[in-house]
Amino acid sequence: MKKPQLFDIYKENIMPTYTKTPLIFVKGKGSRLWDIDNKEYLDFFPGWGVGNLGHCHPKVMQAVRDQISKLIFIPNNYYQLPQAKLARELVRLTFPAKVFFCNSGAEANEAAIKFSRKFGKGRFEIITFENSFHGRTLGALAATGQKKYQTGFAPLPEGFKTVKFNDLEVLKNAVGDKTVAIMLELIQGEGGINVADKDFVLAARKLCDQKNLLLIVDEVQTGVGRTAEMFCYQHYGITPDIVTLAKALGGGLPVGMMIAKAKIADTLGPGMHASTFGGGPVISRAALAVLEAIDKEKLLSNAKEMGEYLLVKLEALKKKYPLILGIRGKGLMLGVELSSPGKSIVEDCMQKGLLINCTHEVVLRLMPALNVSKKDIDKAIRILEEVIKKQPSPSKGPGDI
Ligand SMILES: *Cc1c(COP(=O)(O)O)cnc(C)c1O
Repeated sequence: MKKPQLFDIYKENIMPTYTKTPLIFVKGKGSRLWDIDNKEYLDFFPGWGVGNLGHCHPKVMQAVRDQISKLIFIPNNYYQLPQAKLARELVRLTFPAKVFFCNSGAEANEAAIKFSRKFGKGRFEIITFENSFHGRTLGALAATGQKKYQTGFAPLPEGFKTVKFNDLEVLKNAVGDKTVAIMLELIQGEGGINVADKDFVLAARKLCDQKNLLLIVDEVQTGVGRTAEMFCYQHYGITPDIVTLAKALGGGLPVGMMIAKAKIADTLGPGMHASTFGGGPVISRAALAVLEAIDKEKLLSNAKEMGEYLLVKLEALKKKYPLILGIRGKGLMLGVELSSPGKSIVEDCMQKGLLINCTHEVVLRLMPALNVSKKDIDKAIRILEEVIKKQPSPSKGPGDI
């Protein structure tokens, strides 16, 4: 098959729901990807947040191979070992809680929405934030605070109120008789790498305690070591009532998970919610391998060290190039805010063999694997600088001289 033929098959047979980049990848290892022409790429946005261990981590491959040769699937009305071990490990890593398994971030948030309503006994309203992203199913979409994702899909489920991020007064005023939960990302990933203020999060936790509300933290993108803590909420010293996870937990396989305190878990019974594939033995083994690799290979401390290194390098670029307005994030989840759209920068980096992302039009998003090396960061920064250097300098605004 020739390349244009493959692109044609996509065009004719696959729904056009993604903005496609014309690269055909065939192989991946760590922070490296190879395309069909054997061109090598340095991947600083592996799997859209899935690749916290990089591509094809040997521990994950080994676990999946082993499990597939024994038992690929068993439904959730039976018992199996991998799921039990994974649930126990996640509860150990979080707080006294119980786990519900599903297959994606949207489903995990959907479960959080349903279980909050069940817990609320008539209270149903969930407060969410502007520029948040919680997924594409109707409930998760209604929770998402960005109109661009919602347009064309009305009517969305009722019971969501979207308020300004990081504004405590607005949040307090939004809580009413029917409010049952506050749902947030501690770093808004799709919204432009917006970091929640510590004071705001502590106050939100307190508000939830006072009003018997659930604090739902969506860690689908921030979780599993991305911010150099296992979970981003640990930076804030709070305990959420519900945490949702997905992306990186499966090491590349589809996984979703909702972890909820006993007071929520205890309101549920058989038949109230379900997912056929949720927590199957193969993905459970993969997820266990991910957690084990993070521990054994000391990836949290590497993420911290490499995150600081990358930040210093980016700050140095900021000093040199007025195109860069600011840098924010935690650990290895960093955003570089530009004074103009970043699409061409992403494309030029790609030509030079570096894959990064741009979110919210003007924020370059860098999320390399947690096991990234200094050498790879140096290379990525070299490419990024070559590209930025060639950008037209930002036009001066009125009043500037
Ligand atoms: C990606 C993402 C989701 C949705 O996850 P899917 O697996 O695509 O359904 C939800 N919340 C956040 C914060 C995300 O980054």
